[in-house]
This record gives sequence, C-alpha cells and structure tokens, in this order.
Amino acid sequence: MLSHSITLGRVAAIPIRLHWSWAVIFGLLIVALRPVYAFYACDGAVVCGADVGLAVAMAVLVGVSVLLHELGHALVAGRLAVPVQSITLFAFGGVAEVDHDAPGPGAEFAIAVAGPAVSLLIAAGAGLFAWLAPRADGPLALAALVAGHLAAANAIMGVFNLLPGYPMDGGRVLRATLWYLGDELLPATRATAQIGRACGALLGLGGLAVGVLSRQPVAAVWAALVGLFLFRTASGSYRQAVLQSVLDGVSVGDLMQRRFRTVSRELTLEQFVARYVLGQAETGFAVVEPADDAAEPALIGMMTLRNMRRFTTVQWSLKQVGEAMTPIGQVRTLSPQLPAFDALFLLSESPDGLLPVADGPRLVGILRRRDLAVFIQVQLARRRQ
Ligand SMILES: [Zn+2]
Repeated sequence: MLSHSITLGRVAAIPIRLHWSWAVIFGLLIVALRPVYAFYACDGAVVCGADVGLAVAMAVLVGVSVLLHELGHALVAGRLAVPVQSITLFAFGGVAEVDHDAPGPGAEFAIAVAGPAVSLLIAAGAGLFAWLAPRADGPLALAALVAGHLAAANAIMGVFNLLPGYPMDGGRVLRATLWYLGDELLPATRATAQIGRACGALLGLGGLAVGVLSRQPVAAVWAALVGLFLFRTASGSYRQAVLQSVLDGVSVGDLMQRRFRTVSRELTLEQFVARYVLGQAETGFAVVEPADDAAEPALIGMMTLRNMRRFTTVQWSLKQVGEAMTPIGQVRTLSPQLPAFDALFLLSESPDGLLPVADGPRLVGILRRRDLAVFIQVQLARRRQ
C-alpha cells in the first residue's frame, strides 16, 4: 500500500519509514500553524522568523508523537511474538506493518491499547508542563504554548484512535473483547468492521460538512479523505478476515493443479502457439527438463503469452521457447506446504495469475488464481447454507 517511502532509520531494530504523503501534511501543518505563532512570537509583525521556527518544531513534534504512538504498539507486539516489520508515517498518521494477527484476544487487546496509552501519556506530560510553566513573556512562555498544542494534538490522537471501529485501535480493543467473549475471531471482526465503516462515513461526511460551513476547504478535504480511508480499510479488513478464515489450514498443495501440461525448451515459438495456445484455456506453462512425460521433471522456467511479445511473428519459426521463457532464476515458485492465504497475496502480484509449485527442483504442480477463487467461492457458498 505504502510504496514510495524512504527509510529514516531504525528504532529497536524496526525500520522507520516516511511516505511522501507525510510531507504534504507536514507542509500543511506549518502553513496552518505559522500565523498562530506569529501572533505570540512576532511582536505585532505579520511574519518574523520565530513563527516559522515554532511551526516547523510543532510539525516535527506531531510526527514524533505519531511515531511514539506506533512504537507503543510495536514494542508491545514484539514482546507478544507479533514482530513488526516496519513503521510508516503517512498522510493519515502512522501504520505498523505486521506479518500476522495477534495470537489471541489478550495479545490483541494489549497491542491495541499501547498506542493510545502512549499518546495520552505524552498529552498528560506536555499538558502538565504547559500548566506549570510561568505565564510571563519570553522563551519559556513560548515553550509552554508549544507544549499546550502538543498536549492537545496527542489528546486528540489518543481519543480519536479509541473510536470503537476496526481497524482503529478502539475497534481492535472491542474486537479483542468480542473475540474473548465469543471465542471466535470472524464475527468479532465483522461487527467491529461495520462500526469502522460507520465511523469512516460519519467522520468523512461530518468533517466535510463542518469544514465547508467554517470555510476551511483544506480541513474539509482532509476529513473527507480520512473518512474514505477508514471506510475502505474497514471493508478491506473484513474481506481479508473472511479469506483468512476460509483458507485457514489450507495449503498450496491442497489447491494446486497436479495434472498440467509442460513445455520443452526446444519447441519453436510457432509450435508453442499452435500446440499450447490456440484453442486452449491455459495461458501459462512450466518449461521442464527433461521434456514432458519424464517421471521427475525439473522446472527450468515459465512460458506465457507475455513472453511472446518481444518477438515478431517472423521470428516465431526461428526462436525457441528456451530463449523466450522467463528463466527459473526470475520465477517465483511456491512450496506445497505454503499456507494458501500467503499464496493468494503472491498470486495477486503475479502478472500471469499463476505460479509453479516446486518441491526442491522438482515441479509438482501449478497454482492458478482461478483455483483459489473457485475454492473460496465454494466455501463461501457452503457457509451460506
Ligand atoms: Zn494506534
């Protein structure tokens, strides 16, 4: 989802990444905050330098706050055997990427609570400083002003994230609770994802209305985008949870095609088209050696219609499959033991919608996106009865 990110560094061995959209929010924050600080720091001037400095400092502090919130999730997750792959800051906040769900409702609850807890702790600390600092003029008063804003930003972040819609933190807390009470993950995900969609719709439409009425077009657009993002993420999370439950315990070996046609590398492209492509349903084939009916064919590459594009029809009679195929070094192969849910993701990235299944060098099957889709449809139909 968040490609086009740069890695800033690592905290507790977790790569910290910045998505380009964060820069947009960073810029908007500075533009919005600068006049506020000019009022306090510029002695009546419209622009000085202190206002820009304070606005930049505040925007950086907001970024650090988001990062600390995500680190709160990540550090607790790491302790509960759910390692975090990376943390990315983007336009709508931060996201910690994990490979798999929490092992149980208790872990899910603890991981979800940790982020808002960090935000609310920062809000309390900064708020206390703002309250205790003397109200006189000078740098300390400005620091107290910044601390007050930081407290407000973190309080909003903490409370907003505790809204009970999945995949927000509050939604995860609620899901963990329902999961614990009902002992089933899928109904808990369904309920909290519905609330998440409602939160997204309300927030998007409500924010848009308030923004338009108060003539804040940027805030209106941002609120609408956040709402849309939440709505879509909630819908996607539920679909993902359904797929995960349907494919639970199913491996690539269970769904792959065990009977498949293979191609020899010596075939000319013309022969390949005539024998394998025209009038046939399949569009991708494993290239094996020794050819065809050998007992232990070793996979040496994949040949699909896309591989033909580099050649003109004149070349078809001269070039062989071995020259046109994608060689094994560039082919992603699946192991028969791989969970089908993981294969679904890999297949969605494969341009041909199929991947060879190999046990060591030995080709044992072909898994097509279609095979997974049919299995999922059948399982879903069964559940409806
Ligand atoms: Zn969070």
